[in-house]
Amino acid sequence: MRVVKAYPPNIEEIDAAFQVRGKPILFAFGEIIYNPMGVDIAPELMAHEAVHGRRQIAGEGILAAFGQYDFLRQALKTNPTEALKRRAIEDWWHRYINEPAFRLEEEIFAHIAEYAELCRLHGQRWTSRRAMRRTYAAHVARRLAAPLYGNLISQARAKEILLDASACTEEARLYRGGPPCPPVRVGAG
Ligand SMILES: [Zn+2]
Repeated sequence: MRVVKAYPPNIEEIDAAFQVRGKPILFAFGEIIYNPMGVDIAPELMAHEAVHGRRQIAGEGILAAFGQYDFLRQALKTNPTEALKRRAIEDWWHRYINEPAFRLEEEIFAHIAEYAELCRLHGQRWTSRRAMRRTYAAHVARRLAAPLYGNLISQARAKEILLDASACTEEARLYRGGPPCPPVRVGAG
């Protein structure tokens, strides 16, 4: 992904909901990461934002009636024009802002990739894989449970999901090229 030191084009909509102006926050926008404050981006955060960008362009957030939805998702695969990608990205953000359940699910995918990247990058330093997984899961769970996302999930539940996910999730599979497995269930709590 390309990093650009600016606010994303839809900053007004995002800022109205989350008051993010002036904060060191990254914004995925398709193939671009907007980094308005120019902060250093750790590799695990690149992995996190890449998941958002990839899912935006895949049309995961596209807003359309059902028949049109299928059509647009297909068009994103076969003929992804700039206008269509732009619409898919903006729709994703619109849902992300307005639907907490959607936001939580998207953040779970992104945090799984972040966690997987931490384990991949630093795995060799640990003698106990179990201790490594628990440490990184706790760290990433704190971020996922943070007020930034609107307190969507408890830290304990977030950690549980990450530890589960390390063995078996669609996103981790895509990320590590492992075998297919069932999607993460977003339970209560
Ligand atoms: Zn995120």
